[in-house]
Amino acid sequence: MTSAEKQKIACFLDIAGDYLGSGYKSACREYHFDDDTENSASPQITQSNADFIEIIAQEIKVCGNCSLCQTRINAVPGEGVMQPVVMVIGEGPGEDEDKQGRPFVGKAGQLLDKMLSAIGLSRNENAFIANVVKCRPPKNRDPSPEETAACSQFLKRQISILKPQFILAAGRVSAQTLLKTTEPIGRLRGRFTELTVEENIYPLLATYHPAALLRSEEYKRPAWEDLKLLRSKIGI
Ligand code: URA
Repeated sequence: MTSAEKQKIACFLDIAGDYLGSGYKSACREYHFDDDTENSASPQITQSNADFIEIIAQEIKVCGNCSLCQTRINAVPGEGVMQPVVMVIGEGPGEDEDKQGRPFVGKAGQLLDKMLSAIGLSRNENAFIANVVKCRPPKNRDPSPEETAACSQFLKRQISILKPQFILAAGRVSAQTLLKTTEPIGRLRGRFTELTVEENIYPLLATYHPAALLRSEEYKRPAWEDLKLLRSKIGI
């Protein structure tokens, strides 16, 4: 801002002050302002995406919006890179995740890491891993609609900040919750659909949960087909 501009603002404030205090006097006083240089411009507030993701994580860790907070050891906000190529969204933390406060670190998580790595993805380089609900449902039961609803603002905010190029919904609960449908996972997987979050559209691919692959061989082939489809789109 130039010194002349500052003088005009000061003059306006003087006149307004006089007017409100004792009636109009046109009392414009003389000030000695300097022009701002580039370096003395007011400091910019530069909060990075990582800061916003951290703020959400802190909110999640103390969240008491549903009863899952009473049985959790740790809330599990999610982890990975900013601006991910792929955001993997699972169902909710299991026992290992609850103990460690990190997503997909148990047996299913280790398989997920291998599956991602097979198509050039990892949580350290180009992916972010989160869940529909951030606290473990007791005995790994499905999260209730009330619990997913109570948690949904966190996931929406994470998606809006991270703006992933693609979303991979891991498993039935994730796919059905995100797509607001009760269609079976067998019909939701294998093709891209769209997820709209705050006016942004994200290509979403649903696939079987890695825990399902550990339980049943039959899901391995279609899951691999899904991963190949994802790889063909991301082009890495
Ligand atoms: N299963 C999930 O859906 N999420 C995790 O974080 C771990 C297991």
